[in-house]
Amino acid sequence: MSSRDPEVSTASSAQLFERAEAVIPGGVNSPVRAFGSVGGTPRFIERAAGYTLTDVDGNDYVDLICSWGPMILGHSHPAVVEAVREAATTGLSFGAPTAGEIDLAAEIVARVAPVEQVRLVNSGTEATMSAVRLARGFTGRTKIIKFAGCYHGHVDALLADAGSGLATFGLPTSPGVTGAQAEDTIVVPYNDLDAVTKVFEAHAGEIACVITEAAAGNMGAIAPVPGFNEGLRTLTREHGALLIMDEVMTGFRASSSGWFGVDGVAGDLYTFGKVMSGGLPAAAFGGRADVMNHLAPAGPVYQAGTLSGNPVAVAAGLASLRAADRSVYDALERNADTLTGLLTDALTAEGVAHRVQRAGTLLSVFFSDEPVTDYAGAKKAETFRFPAFFHALLSRGVYPPPSAFEAWFVSSALDDRAFSIIADALPAAAKAAAAAQP
Ligand SMILES: *Cc1c(COP(=O)(O)O)cnc(C)c1O
Repeated sequence: MSSRDPEVSTASSAQLFERAEAVIPGGVNSPVRAFGSVGGTPRFIERAAGYTLTDVDGNDYVDLICSWGPMILGHSHPAVVEAVREAATTGLSFGAPTAGEIDLAAEIVARVAPVEQVRLVNSGTEATMSAVRLARGFTGRTKIIKFAGCYHGHVDALLADAGSGLATFGLPTSPGVTGAQAEDTIVVPYNDLDAVTKVFEAHAGEIACVITEAAAGNMGAIAPVPGFNEGLRTLTREHGALLIMDEVMTGFRASSSGWFGVDGVAGDLYTFGKVMSGGLPAAAFGGRADVMNHLAPAGPVYQAGTLSGNPVAVAAGLASLRAADRSVYDALERNADTLTGLLTDALTAEGVAHRVQRAGTLLSVFFSDEPVTDYAGAKKAETFRFPAFFHALLSRGVYPPPSAFEAWFVSSALDDRAFSIIADALPAAAKAAAAAQP
């Protein structure tokens, strides 16, 4: 932490973290929240409204994480809060179908042309796990291809060389994942079609699916290079494998129809989460009806969930998507552009080598003087500059993701006041990044 950062009281957060560490492993329920790679006291949040997070010590922050994606409208959006309140008063869970589930599925189908049917689940992890099972069940094949640095939730078979928290902590995979669970996963570099071609040739007739983030956001923001997603489409089709577009992060954020709305490349299966949850535990997978019809009870591939399609979560997701109209997507675009400009100006002024990379409205800062196109490039960046940069921002009321390998998320709620807080905080943060030592 830079000695010139303002003193911020974190006594209550520190006290809670100590209590948490006694009863919760590492004090948190998802690793990145523990500030492991940036140090310092994780802030315990008391409430949030619009773009502002307020911690238990009364500090306010401009939120540039948005709960890792869901809060595109900002926090406590009146339409979402009202929908949740209404749903909660008529019963929390029935274990029987409800009309709202059809509305949410129909909203997703209407937005993403290649998606004809949708199954609701509770997390992005469940969505990718189920999509891979379905791809194997449908094709009768076992092997899958994934890309280094792409994160698809903490599914055993998909943890190999995954981004997100594993990138943050420098882990190739996880203890507890057996050889058998990992041996059917073939990992290749992102944006490398030749590598994918070679795997298909070496394993003719064995590949069930390729799973990719439609645009990578879990090793920092790395868009597919022109032709990459199209190439995956062609190769999978040629070899009788399915293409799974993981849009848990990009879905309904990159555009009203997610990354599909950006490059128009159709996957066979899609996974969604984050934005479509409205901030409650909900996610989905969907795609071609002939493939989805292999799922139980229509078909033989088993998949189920006690709380799947939960009425309160469905109400939150549906209200969020319905509120996310043209003006919201225009605001996201504008706000991502403004943030990109502010970051670039501040770091340039201090002579810090950097790239502010974009994947649609997702962005991230790489301390690198070359464009980053894959995980190896992301790991080569000067990540030692990030903790000082992060803490200089945090202590000045701006909350970016606490890891150099995570994307930054804007909401449509950011306004002139938010950007002036960010603009005021950035010069000191850029200085701190410039002064950081490996
Ligand atoms: C967040 C994420 C997941 C996992 O979703 P959870 O709800 O955290 O299980 C999967 N894929 C991608 C691309 C993600 O960004």
